[in-house]
Amino acid sequence: MDAALEAGLRAGHPVFFVNPGRAPIEAVAASLPVTLADITAAKARLARFAPLLAELFPELAPSGGCIESPLLPVPVLARRLQAAGLPSQDRVYLKADHALPVAGSVKARGGLHAVLAVAERLALAQGLLTGPDDDVRLLAEPDARAFFSGHTLSVGSTGNLGLSIGIFGRGLGFAVTVHMAAEARAWKKEKLRGVGATVIEHPGDYAAACATAREEAAHATRLHFIDDENSLDLFLGYAVAGLELPQQLAACRIDVAPASPLVLHLPCGVGGAPGGIACGARLALGDAALAVFVEPTQAPALLLGLATGRRAGVSAADYGLTGRTVADGLAVARPSDLVCRSMEPILDGAHTVPDAAMLAHVAEAWTAEALRLEPAAAAALAGPLAVRRAGLPALADRPATHILWATGGSLLPDTVFAELLAKAGARL
Ligand SMILES: *Cc1c(COP(=O)(O)O)cnc(C)c1O
Repeated sequence: MDAALEAGLRAGHPVFFVNPGRAPIEAVAASLPVTLADITAAKARLARFAPLLAELFPELAPSGGCIESPLLPVPVLARRLQAAGLPSQDRVYLKADHALPVAGSVKARGGLHAVLAVAERLALAQGLLTGPDDDVRLLAEPDARAFFSGHTLSVGSTGNLGLSIGIFGRGLGFAVTVHMAAEARAWKKEKLRGVGATVIEHPGDYAAACATAREEAAHATRLHFIDDENSLDLFLGYAVAGLELPQQLAACRIDVAPASPLVLHLPCGVGGAPGGIACGARLALGDAALAVFVEPTQAPALLLGLATGRRAGVSAADYGLTGRTVADGLAVARPSDLVCRSMEPILDGAHTVPDAAMLAHVAEAWTAEALRLEPAAAAALAGPLAVRRAGLPALADRPATHILWATGGSLLPDTVFAELLAKAGARL
């Protein structure tokens, strides 16, 4: 690793890593863990089960069971960023995954897809469904629910993945056990217990919570562990978000081309959600779609995995960093090996943001655009100026469109949100 980068990391300063491995999609598509066809199949699975979801979750009735988020203009934020030095020809949008129904975070698509993959496999094996043309609403019948209740889904989570798997899994009738890291917020645990999930708290870090859950599931038959670090079904569910973009961009008259690149600003924890989105977007939009990850200064997991080439073999602690952050969704010290491998040719860069800046961005998103974001999501606001300062070669003097990927926050209780705002000197 570059000496200046290492010194900055160790000091807990914000740093920017430009990924030297970034390669044209044509050259690397065959070596990625997922293909465009796999992602399209994941999207088809979500669509196939939409009628069941619309029946099980009242808040999904309006969308017919479809889990998608809008791409929003954020004119006030854009003006503020321009006043702070963003080139005036750059445009800024926000992908509103914080408002995804049911789960309230970017984990909605991935978690739901992973749960549905288990449910579909079990239902086919049990004869509850016989093929893709069956009415999936059969799975809302008492016999199907009784069958699912004999199976347990388990997951290790910093919070939001547990919420997604817990709410969707319980909705289908599964038993759910969520292994929570110490960092997980009390309101997320309470919400999970409220839907009937079992929450097990681990004193150690996130990787420890995952390891326990993985170990336990290896020896059980009716226990299905959804592995945040290795699950392709999760990754594919996240990647479906990338396929939402072409149409939404076209509707905003945004042309993604080398002369007018697109930059996705993706908050990153273990890497699955941003990695899946980056893969989906690059496959759907081509090489002018850039992906830049945002991580806490104390928990730069993916940045370390790529910058050192050590993938999951490196940890924040190796660089004297605590792994602790106000951005609970990003409190991950060690990256996913699967995601490191797939990001080596895809990622454009990764940078770090201190907690205080994330809190300031929570307040800014609220005062400027009335958006309720958790710190992890608000970290994306640091992206546009960071990439311009870093001078990414693909951007040069070209006008870019920035998408701030708002990864979570709409379910934050008022009291919790007010406390976050207070820390940044703002008010609800
Ligand atoms: C989980 C999460 C992320 C990052 O996803 P990873 O798959 O852990 O990298 C970002 N923001 C929020 C709010 C999250 O919950």
